[in-house]
Amino acid sequence: MQFHLNGFRPGDPAVADPVDSAAPRAGALPAEVDVLIVGSGPTGLTLATQLAAFPQISTCIVDQKTGPLRLGQADGIACRTMEMFEAFGFSEKVLKEAYWVNETTFWKPDPAQRGHITRSGRIQDTEEGLSEFPHVILNQARIHDFFLEVMRNSPARLEPHYGRRLVDLQIGNSVVARLEPVDAGQAGQPETIRARYVVGCDGARSTVRKSLGQPLHGDSANQAWGVMDVLAVSDFPDIRLKSVVHSGNEGNILIIPREGGYLVRLYIELDQLKRDERITNRSITVPDLIAAARRILSPHTLEVKEVAWWSVYEIGQRLCDRFDDVPAGAPESRLPRVFIAGDACHTHSPKAGQGMNVSMADAFNLGWKLAAVLQGRSSPALLHSYSGERRAVAQELIEFDRAFAAMFSAPPKDPDNPGREGVDPAEFQNYFVRQGRFTAGTAVHYRPSAICGEPEHQLLATGLVIGMRFHSAPVIRLSDARPMHLGHALKADGRWRLLAFADAEDPANPASRLGRLCDFLATRDSSPVRRYTPAGADIDSVIDVRAVLQHSHRNVLPTQLPALLLPLKGRHGLRDYEKVYCPDPARGDIFDLRGISRRGCVVIVRPDQFVAQILPLDSCEAIARFFDQFMLPATQNAS
Ligand SMILES: Cc1cc2nc3c(=O)[nH]c(=O)nc-3n(C[C@H](O)[C@H](O)[C@H](O)COP(=O)(O)OP(=O)(O)OC[C@H]3O[C@@H](n4cnc5c(N)ncnc54)[C@H](O)[C@@H]3O)c2cc1C
Repeated sequence: MQFHLNGFRPGDPAVADPVDSAAPRAGALPAEVDVLIVGSGPTGLTLATQLAAFPQISTCIVDQKTGPLRLGQADGIACRTMEMFEAFGFSEKVLKEAYWVNETTFWKPDPAQRGHITRSGRIQDTEEGLSEFPHVILNQARIHDFFLEVMRNSPARLEPHYGRRLVDLQIGNSVVARLEPVDAGQAGQPETIRARYVVGCDGARSTVRKSLGQPLHGDSANQAWGVMDVLAVSDFPDIRLKSVVHSGNEGNILIIPREGGYLVRLYIELDQLKRDERITNRSITVPDLIAAARRILSPHTLEVKEVAWWSVYEIGQRLCDRFDDVPAGAPESRLPRVFIAGDACHTHSPKAGQGMNVSMADAFNLGWKLAAVLQGRSSPALLHSYSGERRAVAQELIEFDRAFAAMFSAPPKDPDNPGREGVDPAEFQNYFVRQGRFTAGTAVHYRPSAICGEPEHQLLATGLVIGMRFHSAPVIRLSDARPMHLGHALKADGRWRLLAFADAEDPANPASRLGRLCDFLATRDSSPVRRYTPAGADIDSVIDVRAVLQHSHRNVLPTQLPALLLPLKGRHGLRDYEKVYCPDPARGDIFDLRGISRRGCVVIVRPDQFVAQILPLDSCEAIARFFDQFMLPATQNAS
């Protein structure tokens, strides 16, 4: 973490100095904003936290709830989401508090006594080396708390306006949102906000989506789940392991141990609902759920001492056609003004634990794009890529979720009754392992576009796939010999990263390929660093150039490296010593771990940590052409 750049400041470095426009957020809504976010679930909070990093952008987030979420809802946090939390600066808090899903067990009917269950398998939950972060479980409300804390500490001191329900939107060159107070005391005083952009993060029954006339398409027959967070005593041996239990005739249960060592979540699959049937009409009670759990876990005991939260939760796999307000077939010149994200545009069953994770990833994809456009760094045409990229991901996930959910729900094969339909438990376990990258959130692969290059030079770094998230690896920071993960230098601050993986030449030699690249980036008019960085701003404020050397950190003097890698920044012109890294032989050489050519290469990483392009180390003009496709020269910037 870097701080004191603009002068020494005592106190918590996570609390930024407020900007002048930072106002107490309680009270009336602002009349006009750049971005209005409707909904403060995980999607809205991810977006608001991202936008809070840009104090010059005015953002307002509203929710019909009267205060922050306290209990319940989703709890699974995929490895990829943890990587995103690291970029927002709170992964360590989550790691400390959460339950870590290291292993998963599978239970099936006991062949000797089909009314009982027996363990059929035990696997490592996440493939070795898939991410530096584990798959963890933590109450959604705590995730909200961490986002809210970052927002509150940001220069804009952003906080949600609770107790406001969006009624409708009028969409023109800007968007006018009409809101009504939910608190009875304020009844009859509707408010309006004019916004340049509106983002509907307002959940599965989204008013924003409805105002765009976008239906959710998908399964009409909903699957209902009973979910309980309980403090219980049980002799089931895997009560502290994630366990998938298929009983002979009593249904299925998913056991998710929770944070704190005692709490456990039980997902009990209920019957499929008929078309248009609502689960609330079935009058399912907590004793019903406990009784079902006991039957499934037989012969094991389950004595529930306290139910912290419970719900019957119905969900179909649904998706809408577009994630913005641009009509199908409209010309490229028709720019989006309204977006929908998260459950507002796609819903998933809880079985694969995707809902909250994919929703937050939508917001991470959209946030930097909105910031780039509102800061005048990119043309608004960039915003088209949000719906294109994220809808394709949601579509793929829904297909995966549908297959996964069907496997989960199918009864286990009965050897005594071979004619009966069912899934072999071993087959289900294999499927679970094969799909691990999907559930970890690391399988997302964006197609080539202006912000995602063609894979012409992919062979220069086979383990950093263009269009996929930057797969971090260990390094040692040159200046202070600190072992760290390279990916953790990629913060959620809207900046592009240009990672120059050097060849074996002396990096201090100005004639080396690294030296010539740095010279181009620092001095030539066609350099994207020069073209897109506003006058007076720090040289790394738009495109952050970093280097990874092949040499040992003990054999290179930082001060002999190209000046671009030791930039002078901030009010005092202080030197930034944190741009250069070397392999960490104790934890694996990053060049070997990620298949990086010893001839070196340039890896361009988007602000949402996706690999945008890989190019040869000396392809200066190609680097410039890549950025020229979507960035606006600094002289044209207008915020
Ligand atoms: C009751 C419930 C139980 C769930 N249980 C599970 C679970 O057990 N496991 C699991 O994996 N997933 C569960 N989910 C799903 C998971 O929580 C979602 O996938 C995830 O929260 C999606 O986040 P989101 O921000 O897109 O939507 P949400 O979390 O639904 O947030 C939407 C927000 O928008 C607000 N809002 C809605 N309409 C308006 C309006 N007109 N004006 C202002 N504000 C509005 C809502 O108050 C809410 O805060 C559950 C969801 C719900 C609603």
